[in-house]
Amino acid sequence: MPEAAGEYREAPEIAELAWELIQAHHPGLQEATIVYLVSSKDAKQNGVPIVGQASKVTDKERLVHDTNVQFVLTIHGKNFGPLPDEQKAAHLDHLLCHCRLYEGSPHIVPHDLDEFAGVISRHGLYDVGAIAIAAAIQPHLPGLEGAARPEPAPPPEPVAVEKPDRPSRRTRDLEPAPAVA
Ligand SMILES: [Zn+2]
Repeated sequence: MPEAAGEYREAPEIAELAWELIQAHHPGLQEATIVYLVSSKDAKQNGVPIVGQASKVTDKERLVHDTNVQFVLTIHGKNFGPLPDEQKAAHLDHLLCHCRLYEGSPHIVPHDLDEFAGVISRHGLYDVGAIAIAAAIQPHLPGLEGAARPEPAPPPEPVAVEKPDRPSRRTRDLEPAPAVA
């Protein structure tokens, strides 16, 4: 495989970070063959910047392309690069959560929860995905108090509505898998 092609380049620095996460949290991926790429494309999905994508290489694609690669993690450098280290690790951890070997074959794992805030607001934790996410979020809730309820500006000053420096970045997975050289 060439080290770079078009918008893509191989990313040993991402592989290094990912290997630490695999050893700590994803032991099932220690035997997986994963290629890490950085894309220079300014990727967005529904107008939201994408930090990274995880995709699998199917048995058929491995045969046709004569490769043993099972997963491709693509990092969108323009969106990933400016993030603090802890957020980089979280996004990479997210992408690795999508990757699972089942009986030696690569599978893309869906999210635990794909939900609307309004539904949770109206119906509570009505399914196991919502319960699992709520349980995971609960220990972090005290840290959200300030963010959820910002102090209003004192009168008579007008209330300033601050916008974040950049739009929230989300990690998405896309299928089908990109072609593997
Ligand atoms: Zn995802």
